[in-house]
Amino acid sequence: MDTDNGIYVNVFDENTKETVVMELEEIVKKATTIVYTSIQKETPDVFEIEAIKAISIVIRTQVIRRLKRFNGIKWNEEIDADISTGMSGFEYIIGSPKIPREGFDEVYNKCSALVDDTKGFIITFGGKPIKAEYHLVCGGGTENSEDVLGNKIMYLRKVLCEYCFNSTNYEGVIDIPINEIEDKLNVKVTEESSIYGPEIKGVFEDVQRDETGRVKRIKVGERYFSGIEIRDLLGLNSSRFGWDPLVIRFKSRGLGDGLGMCLYGAYKMAEEGKSYTEILKYYYTGVQIVNINSAGGGVPLSGKTFIIDPGHGGDNGGDEKGPTGLREKDVNLYIAKSLVELLEKDGALVYLTRLEDEDISIIKRIEYVNSIRPNFLISIHQNFFFALGVSGTEVYYYRGDLEGEKMGRLILDNIAKSLGTANRGTKNAEFAIIRESKVSSILVECMYISNPKEEEALKSDQVKREIAKAIYRGVLEYYGI
Ligand SMILES: [Zn+2]
Ligand SMILES: [Zn+2]
Repeated sequence: MDTDNGIYVNVFDENTKETVVMELEEIVKKATTIVYTSIQKETPDVFEIEAIKAISIVIRTQVIRRLKRFNGIKWNEEIDADISTGMSGFEYIIGSPKIPREGFDEVYNKCSALVDDTKGFIITFGGKPIKAEYHLVCGGGTENSEDVLGNKIMYLRKVLCEYCFNSTNYEGVIDIPINEIEDKLNVKVTEESSIYGPEIKGVFEDVQRDETGRVKRIKVGERYFSGIEIRDLLGLNSSRFGWDPLVIRFKSRGLGDGLGMCLYGAYKMAEEGKSYTEILKYYYTGVQIVNINSAGGGVPLSGKTFIIDPGHGGDNGGDEKGPTGLREKDVNLYIAKSLVELLEKDGALVYLTRLEDEDISIIKRIEYVNSIRPNFLISIHQNFFFALGVSGTEVYYYRGDLEGEKMGRLILDNIAKSLGTANRGTKNAEFAIIRESKVSSILVECMYISNPKEEEALKSDQVKREIAKAIYRGVLEYYGI
């Protein structure tokens, strides 16, 4: 039973084609290590603390942007995966942190401690997590988003960067054969006939030939030559000649798409004593660094996620009926919806396992809970006993779930106090919904629908709202609010 209030992420493993659940901070630690080791190829023994912290915040922001509970968009909605190991930087996050790079474990241990220092921090713009792009070396300046992605993103602006000047990737040289260029670009640049050749600006220009193809005059670089001069100077067999370029040497500056943070630049900035905030604000224009645990400030439950589970529904067999026919499923749904309103007002993110009178299996509900991993699951029920005299409130938690027990007791006390019901205590139970849900959870039996007086009370919307309010107050007290 998880009681650490961690944030869980569904990760699609490109190797096994399966989705695994991982804790956010573990992902951040592994991915930060992987990304940092990519700079370390150039600077093997250097740990720049602020650069590592900056990277960890970038990684965390990328993940948070994919999470439903933060209004994000999953990497793949269909297979319910938030992120994938196919995403750049996330390739080796699954399993033990063994990747084909030397010294990973050592780097991992050092990075882990630094990632702990930035726990919860992400980069936002306009109150939303940013598209936190990064690249290895910008080569003198980053790019405007519209020049790379085609659309303007306010925080992905061109900034000058002289920090990566010393990187070995600042300038790159690569020779590519023409036939490879023709293949890859699906173009034809060479001539079919061997005694002709393409004019190449600055190299071979202004070619004049006679009717048999002999070169009469040609401009090479800045000078004009006759065909015969070229033949003699270059030792060709004849002045009837052509040419084919075989290889083009490309020179480039920078490595990567130039969007967002320049990793090598971040490393150099840290070396110069800049903080991670300064680094991030340098490369991402106009952003804020916020803690997701206190985002929205002043709203007591912001950052908290709940699933409220109105028991039964549809033709579910467990649904109980009061002596005059009041249905438990309807009472549960009403209380649940009232509770959602109260929690949402205080900034919590709240999900319901059912929105209307429908039969949703316990297995489906459990799957739902385990995919969202809320801070708490609260299941709402009304009790039943064949002896009509029995009445009162009970709360169930799964054995060992101390947080469940604690919140359960607070809720129980609040209901008993404000509704005047008999306090029948908190109890262990094996109900599947609380046993199989991998988060702290409670099942509240608000009243006995089998008891004529309590059935009558439950017919009143005001009473149901009062119960919701009592549960809500219990939640607030649990969080010390
Ligand atoms: Zn740079
Ligand atoms: Zn029930």
